[in-house]
Amino acid sequence: MLRLLLLHALLAAGLPARAQAPEAATAALAEAAGPGAPAQDGRREEARGPASPVVHGIPRQAGSPGPRYTEREAWEPERILSALRDAYPGRIDRVARRSGDWAIRVGGEWYCWANGRLLPESEREEWERYDPVPFYRYPRELPPLARLGGEEKEALEARLKQREEDPPLRHSGFFDALWRIRDRVSSWERVKTIYFLGIKTEIHRDLMEDLAAVEEEIQALLPGDPQLSRYVGSLRTLDGYNWRRIDGTSSLSFHAYGAALDVIPAYYGGKQVYWRWAMKASPEWYSLPYENRFMPPMSFVQAFERHGFVWGGKWLTFDTIHFEYRPEVLLLNGFLPAP
Ligand SMILES: [Zn+2]
Repeated sequence: MLRLLLLHALLAAGLPARAQAPEAATAALAEAAGPGAPAQDGRREEARGPASPVVHGIPRQAGSPGPRYTEREAWEPERILSALRDAYPGRIDRVARRSGDWAIRVGGEWYCWANGRLLPESEREEWERYDPVPFYRYPRELPPLARLGGEEKEALEARLKQREEDPPLRHSGFFDALWRIRDRVSSWERVKTIYFLGIKTEIHRDLMEDLAAVEEEIQALLPGDPQLSRYVGSLRTLDGYNWRRIDGTSSLSFHAYGAALDVIPAYYGGKQVYWRWAMKASPEWYSLPYENRFMPPMSFVQAFERHGFVWGGKWLTFDTIHFEYRPEVLLLNGFLPAP
């Protein structure tokens, strides 16, 4: 039972909804990758869905009792909303009880907790139509690999299948308000071109300072960290802003906000970077040893974590080139912001 609960927690933490495929660094890997791999001309395939993990397995049918398995239950709504307020002081100014529910004010507009769905107050009664926004356990160290028994494997397979047939649907209003984005045009208006470690990319203007701080920490470490130096020297592409939406839903990828960054080297060295690709190679992709996954140095990951970014390499459904800005997740997990 404990193991099953753990599986559910891992799933809750780690399932990117219809996740976008990372760019393959080599043609060979691209061929092996199948759907989601970049086209041969190197351009990214369009609209693969969001990069952020999604709480899965929570039925949104009428009469659903709401979240059952997820680690979300470990935190009270007030704690989660307070973490959001602390994480985005320029955008969120209040957390309060309103009309019998917790609510949070973003850019002057109130959003209610609505059983974890974070909805505009006018849509509160519609909560069963949506999946919860994921707030999940994020460990400091690399999490132990999942070792699943027969029953657990079946449960995982069933949930992945269900997820394909009925993709998670999240209300995007809260994050749209947070990032001041209404549509593709307004998203592009919020984006700035930057150079990060000498490579050009586009990110949300609100993250320019955070990324500059990450870069500065990495540069300070380079002289004493040959592994980090080799890794940084191997980097070729940074994919930040990319307008994407989950098919058939209103949920946007964090790349569509310019709040996620794929850090892509010239070669993956035959290693796996992305769970969907790994799944094609092995039915037990989730227990693929870390040495067989493409891994940035932990000093690189930690520099991002200190400035509000989570790394997809710690998700069960791993995406080891993906970083996204979720300071509230880090705060909930006891990470302190950099001074
Ligand atoms: Zn990504």
